[in-house]
Amino acid sequence: AQAERSTVWVGPEGRAVPIGPGTFTLVAGPCAVESALQTLGAARLAAGAGATLLRGGAYKPRTSPLSFQGMGEDALKILADVREATGLYVVSEVIDPADVDLVASYADMILIGATNMQNFALLDSVGRRGKPVMLKRGMQATVDEWLLAAEYVAQRGNCQIVLCERGIRTFETATKATLDLSAIPLVQRLSHLPVVVDPTHCAGRRDLIVPLARAAIAAGADGLLVDVHPDPENALVDGPQALAGAELRELASAVRQLPPLM
Ligand code: PEP
Repeated sequence: AQAERSTVWVGPEGRAVPIGPGTFTLVAGPCAVESALQTLGAARLAAGAGATLLRGGAYKPRTSPLSFQGMGEDALKILADVREATGLYVVSEVIDPADVDLVASYADMILIGATNMQNFALLDSVGRRGKPVMLKRGMQATVDEWLLAAEYVAQRGNCQIVLCERGIRTFETATKATLDLSAIPLVQRLSHLPVVVDPTHCAGRRDLIVPLARAAIAAGADGLLVDVHPDPENALVDGPQALAGAELRELASAVRQLPPLM
């Protein structure tokens, strides 16, 4: 039998926003915080598209150590200011167990990125901290490994967990990763946790994001996580996959036209 599905609440009590069954949550924002102006611009685009949560990276685990690594605490301060200005709650990645308290003191939800899905010290620390957490699926992780990673967080007393499918590595190199659509209904049957989809980091290219988002919605995802940037051509991180303009309007319309939620 299908487990009863949970709702995870993000934000202060009384004003928190839900992620889970019967609702649909759009999380949008810049891949990396680059400046106050860029983050505010991205947040306004996100809010205009229907987002209730703002994503923004302060610590960026990049493939190359020569790439921009994020602004650290300065970025977290910017995100907190932008929350004040826009009312969007903040989701931000932590990559080091030693930074969990710091990130949790600014962010409303902690993101664990794909590269850290099995960083057990990090899972332990985030589990003990007790802030809502979004756990991305590792690029090479099976569904079982992903659910067991979530179990590490839950075992430490934190059950406020949202799973995020972000594509897995296959033989196909035309996209950054291959979106595993079957994982959406599968984890909804195997666990009680909400599942959102990040079409941005699997596509790696702007023109595929809306079709993948539509597919995720059709497969029953509880929400989407997307990169937006007010000036993608000049983004410091992943500009070719950031939405703005026409594609963002298309995404917003896809979200507005959601089929009736169960
Ligand atoms: C991100 O969401 O900022 C990110 C780097 O994605 P992932 O961890 O899925 O690669």
